[in-house]
This record gives sequence, structure tokens and C-alpha cells, in this order.
Amino acid sequence: MATMIIEGDRTKAASGKTYEVRNPATGEVVDEVPAGGAADVDRAAQAAAKAFTTWSKMPANKRAEILHKAAQHMLGKVEHIAPILTKEQGKTLLESRIEAQRFGENIAWFADLADKVHGQHVRLPDLTTYGLVVRRPIGVCGAIVPWNFPLTLAANKVAPAIAAGNTVVLKPASTTPLSTLACIEALIEGGLPEGVVNVVLGQATGEAIVSHPLIRKIALTGSTPTGKKVMARAAEGLKKVTLELGGSDPCIVLDDADLEGAARAISVGRFFNCGQACLAVKRLYVQEGVHDALLEKLVARAAKLKPGNGLDKDSRMGPMHSETQRAEVEAQVKDAVDRGARVLYGGGRPKGAEYDRGWFIQPTILEDVPDGSRMWAEEVFGPALPVRRIKDLDEGLRLANDSEYGLGSSIWTTNMAAAHRAVEELEAGYTWVNALQIAHDELPFGGTKQSGFGKEHGLEAFLQYTEEKSVVYGGI
Ligand code: NAD
Repeated sequence: MATMIIEGDRTKAASGKTYEVRNPATGEVVDEVPAGGAADVDRAAQAAAKAFTTWSKMPANKRAEILHKAAQHMLGKVEHIAPILTKEQGKTLLESRIEAQRFGENIAWFADLADKVHGQHVRLPDLTTYGLVVRRPIGVCGAIVPWNFPLTLAANKVAPAIAAGNTVVLKPASTTPLSTLACIEALIEGGLPEGVVNVVLGQATGEAIVSHPLIRKIALTGSTPTGKKVMARAAEGLKKVTLELGGSDPCIVLDDADLEGAARAISVGRFFNCGQACLAVKRLYVQEGVHDALLEKLVARAAKLKPGNGLDKDSRMGPMHSETQRAEVEAQVKDAVDRGARVLYGGGRPKGAEYDRGWFIQPTILEDVPDGSRMWAEEVFGPALPVRRIKDLDEGLRLANDSEYGLGSSIWTTNMAAAHRAVEELEAGYTWVNALQIAHDELPFGGTKQSGFGKEHGLEAFLQYTEEKSVVYGGI
């Protein structure tokens, strides 16, 4: 049975309760884990507060060295961790390897910043005093993570937090705790001091983290409704919050686009991780002149994505993570079809005995999805792509911005003026121009509108795990 990681202890829940983690491809039990609660979060927060007193005061270059060593050790375990992620989450082994690798790389990327915290020197009008602005770590930070990318989304929070000298109470999604435990255990084996990152498990630990008085900042990745609840609860304790929430990223393809490049990016953007990605191509707007040619290419690519158990070498797309998630996407597709959309590819479940016990679904492409369909208004968190013809860029931009979300967006065109207009006008935290939707370590990532606020990745994320303090030196 898996255990929580609280300081030096590998511990069960205080209540003694447990629950099962199941494989979305087979329904088999992968492991039994503690169902933690408020008492466990309290222990973890106390442990993190204790660790903060030494971790935050350690010379920053020493902290950087520890983090680099721990990251290297963890990276040596990618082949061990990837199958654990596949079994609990469903994604293919290739996707799991990429994700586990990204976890270690992210820790190393922020380790490089640990000893580069800069402040300011400020001349004051009174010549006998001067001011400084210093940056300090915040304290104990809470990290709450969803199930779609359990490792990268944990690293996005843990890496900048600990590099800046904070300590963490981390809560994975209840259905994907095992690979996270393996990653944190690997960091500890590699030299990360006990107590710097503590892992609590179980649905109830989320609210307990948000309410705990020792926890000063909450970073959540999750759905928009969860983000609103977390923000309201965090307000009671006046905590800082970073909210990475839902998205419905538009992609515009104009007549002058590189269609091969666009088809590849759209296919990866919509079908990677069985479509369960926050940054994804979730709405496609294609100019009339290239509409049919692009869709032909997209259908050819979808046809190559053989669904299957992520552990099988020939699977190109794992199952969806849960029955409820699949039912939601199926209902969204049905709504579009009932309103008159045409199914160009997929539209149902794959047939065969190997699919009977898992939450499998076909990659799906829908043409001429009518206005008012759920797929345009809601987040489609699965491998189904609605497509609409557009006359020109004006129409594309109007439809792209007609969403409550504002996470990512992309445009394919060889016209620099059109690309520039899209960059200026698309209401989103990220715009890719003729590029694959990859969230780069170097660039700040985060949404606008109902997709949340605050940044992960980049120097910006690191600075958001520090607080500025002004200092006046007198008597000189
Ligand atoms: P979710 O909101 O149900 O859960 C996310 C996490 O929050 C889980 O660990 C959950 O246990 C916890 N949680 C739930 N209610 C809570 C509460 N009241 N207080 C504290 N914690 C609580 O989301 P999910 O279904 O696991 O993930 C899918 C959603 O996440 C999608 O909407 C997706 O777009 C979004 N997402 C966003 C990003 C991003 O970076 N913007 C990335 C990935 C996923």
C-alpha cells in the first residue's frame, strides 16, 4: 500500500481510511492509498513550516546544488516512473516518459534560478538614508494538482517554490497519486531534505490545504468552478493564489497557411493525452479556401491514432481518465451532431474486446458544428474537435474571442500583418504563431478571463514565490 510523505514519515491517514486507485484502461486496482484529511494536512503543514526555517536560510547556491542533484537522480528513474503514470492515468508510455522527464527538467530549470534572486537599491531624497527592496521566500506553499498531467503540473508549482526557498504541501489528484509519490521519493533519495516537500493524499486534503493557517500561498491547477471555490476560501485567510483553470483554446487557419505544419500541430494539440489537456486546440476555425484540404489531412492523422492500453507499444492514444469524463465528451459530441454537425472521423467508442473494460473513445472530428453547440461554449476535455468555416480573419478573431475562457490560442498564416493582429487581439495568455502548442519553461504561462490568473513557468513564476520587502537604512 502506498503511503503519504510527511517529513521523515511514510504514513497512513490519521483516520486509517484508504481508497483504491484503478487503471482507466482495464479497471484493475493499481494500488490502495491513504484517504487523508485535515489532521494529515496539519501534520504536513507543521513539517513544512519546520523545514522552512533551515531550507529558506540555506545559502542559495547550496540549495541550487541540492536541487540539481535531486533532479538528476529523479531523471535516472524516468523508466521506473513512466509505467506507474500510465497505469494510474491511462496515457501512453511515450506520453508518460515525456511527462516524467519534464518533471525532472523543470526542477533543474528552476534550480538554476535559486541563487539569482535580485532586489533593488533605491536612492531616497533624504541623503542620510537609502532604500533597498529585498525578495524573500513566502513560507509554506500549498500545491493542488489535477489528474491530466499529474507530474508536470506538480513540478510547475513545486520547482519554483522550493528553488526560491519555500517549502510545500503537495496534493495530487486522488486518482493519480502514485507517480507523484515516486517523483518526490526520488528527489528525496537524491538529497532533497525531508520536510521540504510533503505529499498528502485524498479528496478532503484540498480544502484543508486552502484553509490551513500556516499555508501562505495556494497554487491550483483545476477546473474553473474549483478555482472559484479555492479563491473564495483562500480569501478568508488572505492567502496569495495562483489559479490555472479551464480553457477552450481557439486555432485559426488562414488560406495562406502551411497546411502540413498546421495539421500536425492541430492533431497533436487536440489528441495528445487523449485530448485531456488545458492547453490544446479545442476550437478550430478554418478559412474557406483551405478548409477541405486541411480537414483531409486532419482525418488522415486521426486515423493513425490507434486507441489502446497505454502500456501496449502499438497504442497511440490511451483511454480517457474516467467514466464521467468520457460521458461528458460523448454528450458534447451528441449535442453537436443533434444540431446538425457532420462526423468526419470517429464519433464513438472503438470496437473490440480489448476496449470493453476501459474508458476508450475514438479521436473525433466534427465539421460545420453549428453556433450554439456545447462544444463552442464549454471546455471539451477529450479528443473531439469542432471545426467551423470562416470567411476571413475578422470572423476568426470574433469567434475565437467569443468564449469565457482565455488560456491558449494559435494562428497559422504566412501573412505577418495577420499574425500580428492575432497576437494583439486574441484574448488569451499564450498565442502560438505557426508553432506547436508547447508551454516552454522560459515563457510565463497562465490564463486570462475564466482561465484564471498568475503565472507558472519562467522567471515570472519564480518571482511569484517570493515577496518583496522594502528596507530603509538610516544613520549614514
Ligand atoms: P478539479 O478542479 O476537479 O480538481 C483539481 C484539483 O483540485 C484536484 O486535486 C482536486 O482534488 C482539488 N480540489 C477539488 N475541489 C477542491 C476544493 N474545493 N478545494 C481545494 N481543492 C480542491 O479538476 P480536474 O478534473 O482534476 O482537472 C481538469 C481541469 O483542470 C480542467 O478544467 C482543465 O482545463 C484544468 N486544467 C488547467 C490547466 C491549466 O494550467 N490552466 C492545466 C491542466 C488542467
